[in-house]
Amino acid sequence: MTPKGKVPFVDLVTLHRELEPELLEVCKRVIETAGFVGGPEVEGLEKEFAEFCDAKYSVAVNSGTDALRFALMAAGVRPGDIVVTVPNTFIATTEAISQAGARPDLVDIDPRTFNMDPQKLRAYLETQCTLDSSSGHYVHKILKKPVTAVVPVHLFGQMADMDSIMELAAQYNLIVVEDACQAHGAEYFSQKENRWMKAGSIGRAAAFSFYPGKNLGACGEGGAITTNDPELARKCMVLRDHGSAKKYYHEMEGYNGRLDSIQAGMLRIKLKHLAKWNEQRRASARVYDELLAPMAEAVAAPFEPKSAKSVYHLYVVRTTSRDDLQKHLSEKGIGTGIHYPVPVHLQKAYAGMWKQGDFPEAESAAEQILSLPMFAGLTIEQQKLAAETISEFVGEYVR
Ligand SMILES: *Cc1c(COP(=O)(O)O)cnc(C)c1O
Repeated sequence: MTPKGKVPFVDLVTLHRELEPELLEVCKRVIETAGFVGGPEVEGLEKEFAEFCDAKYSVAVNSGTDALRFALMAAGVRPGDIVVTVPNTFIATTEAISQAGARPDLVDIDPRTFNMDPQKLRAYLETQCTLDSSSGHYVHKILKKPVTAVVPVHLFGQMADMDSIMELAAQYNLIVVEDACQAHGAEYFSQKENRWMKAGSIGRAAAFSFYPGKNLGACGEGGAITTNDPELARKCMVLRDHGSAKKYYHEMEGYNGRLDSIQAGMLRIKLKHLAKWNEQRRASARVYDELLAPMAEAVAAPFEPKSAKSVYHLYVVRTTSRDDLQKHLSEKGIGTGIHYPVPVHLQKAYAGMWKQGDFPEAESAAEQILSLPMFAGLTIEQQKLAAETISEFVGEYVR
């Protein structure tokens, strides 16, 4: 993460330096009106972000984790339900499920895209669950709890196979909430709709994170829900504000999950650049693809199916000599990351719930994936240096 090497893994400094006068103007404006929480900046961001995602509504909150929790609760997930997601994600996905009162359960990934494998979801529903005709829900045979929702994670900026997931969800009576925390602006070609669709516009609702390192990041914490359902949006607004739609009148207990005005104002400025930044990331990905092609046997570039337009939150290669390659790159001043080294089901936090071998594709991915430098503003020279350093390693150690 440190920009001290020759090629940093991410560079958040340069990008913000260019926007500094505008960002400082936001602080000044907010300080002068003393409207620090909610208000016109937040409402403006909600309107603009919903438009960007091709969704009718967006509700701004203080993190992606809360966005996912509120979306699940507002969509009707209840304490004691099972919500299915994938093992190779950031723990926030399963935390949000647990914090909504549900029990996270997992299905393995497609090893080419690292996203949820719809065949595995189907197998899970068919073999591990049985229809409870009184409730209309599929109930897990061993856990004896209803499976009510599925959270596909659009990992690394690339959308999951949403047509298949939506079809299964309809068949098995599941709510779909997209974890789009890494996928602001990503697109998916829906055969069913015969058009490109944006992340956050397909499921019942979606959660986005504005953590600084995301494709759209605040200068602090933030997140948002998108949905086309006005009642779901209203419920999220109530949940984020102590269960109240009107100050000091509480329909239920809620949370303090509000976004502050300074972050909202800064996000509005950055949102104007997001489409361009995403294009830059896609262009950088094409450059990497080309540079890495001669080494494809040793270091595999990411797979982008025809149905996906990734926004490359991360550019993740796959190699059996991952740890050695990472060490080599680090010694030569090239920053890298691993997303993620330990799949959710093997985290200490979930000890006793799953075991080694439960999700072999996620486990093998965790041992082989490496995220190369990727950010808007990455130069071709920096990419060449990274690729040459990889090539050097492949030549010396792999053959
Ligand atoms: C970042 C992230 C989150 C959580 O977002 P926060 O804003 O950090 O709470 C959830 N899911 C995924 C996949 C993420 O990458």
